[in-house]
Amino acid sequence: MNNALCENWGNPSSLHTLGMNAEIAVSDARECVAKYIGANPKEIIFTSCGTEANNMAIMSALHRKNRGNRVITTAIEHPSVLETVKSLAKFGFEVITLKPDEKGVISLCDLENALNDKTVLVSIMLVNNETGATQPVAEAVKLTRQKAPNAFFHCDAVQAFGKMPINVKTLGVDMLTASGHKIHAPKGIGFLYLNQKTHIAPLLLGGGQENGMRSGTESVPLICALHGAVVELPNLKQTLETRREIYNYAVDLLTKDNLATINSSEQGLPYVLNISVNGYRSETLLHFLERKNIFVSSGSACAKGGLSYVLKEMGKTDKSIDSALRISFSRFTTKEDINTLVSELKNATSRLRKA
Ligand code: PLP
Repeated sequence: MNNALCENWGNPSSLHTLGMNAEIAVSDARECVAKYIGANPKEIIFTSCGTEANNMAIMSALHRKNRGNRVITTAIEHPSVLETVKSLAKFGFEVITLKPDEKGVISLCDLENALNDKTVLVSIMLVNNETGATQPVAEAVKLTRQKAPNAFFHCDAVQAFGKMPINVKTLGVDMLTASGHKIHAPKGIGFLYLNQKTHIAPLLLGGGQENGMRSGTESVPLICALHGAVVELPNLKQTLETRREIYNYAVDLLTKDNLATINSSEQGLPYVLNISVNGYRSETLLHFLERKNIFVSSGSACAKGGLSYVLKEMGKTDKSIDSALRISFSRFTTKEDINTLVSELKNATSRLRKA
């Protein structure tokens, strides 16, 4: 990234050497990202974030209305999917949102019942951002192919990319979204995987960059940063084992002496742990913890701390949602970090009880 900012600062569309060097940096990044998810480099479209990639995938339905008007998603998607899908209703689309079970997982049976030959788009996330619940995407793609031959399948994999192995060809999806800042790249870079056989209209028109799919001068430094972050990713299978151990350690400590109840299911990806510290409002606890340099969330970051619709859809009570905290782990989180979290959480509840 530094090199692209300070030395190799050309515009990839320029014909001179500086431009060509920048173009080489972008295509190296594209090749690396593509390889990482089992795609062809031509199938990677760099975007400004996951939200843009989700919008691009979903708004593609507008151009396919002659084939049908049903769009299916889940009630627990990130707002960048949910709000975009809902906006399609204004254009005459019938929007179906599948509900999760109490573990935060959608039912394939519900999907099967919702699919028909008028369905033009199905969008189901791989891992939920508030609970870590993993959705049965590969199976959902198979059902979609059988029951809705006109449908494109999009998957928001922002929380899964770089944390669990992803192969787009094995998953069978037409489109898949990822975002750099979830794997330690800076904010402001993401990409959409778009299968070569899937033809959609671009959101941004202009100079025809990104193979005509996303006009606008490429952010070479951010693309290089994403490249660097992907190169740094560890062996995911091994890392998942360690992560599971740390996650289970956190669950054990947090549930000891009824300090908290767990809202996430054990089968989820061990990077997001959603808990309720019953009797204490999440916002109050969040501010206590931040004074100790522990930064946790209540609900989705995009909901700015609003009550979690994801937990509501899972059937949690208002009281338990009001005291919910979302703890996000990275591959660098240690048992010592967990010890500090638990001890500060105990301090906070004891001080609040006295107050
Ligand atoms: N999808 C999911 C599941 C997310 O968790 C996020 C961000 O947290 C996004 C999409 C949006 O990505 P970005 O922040 O890059 O726009």
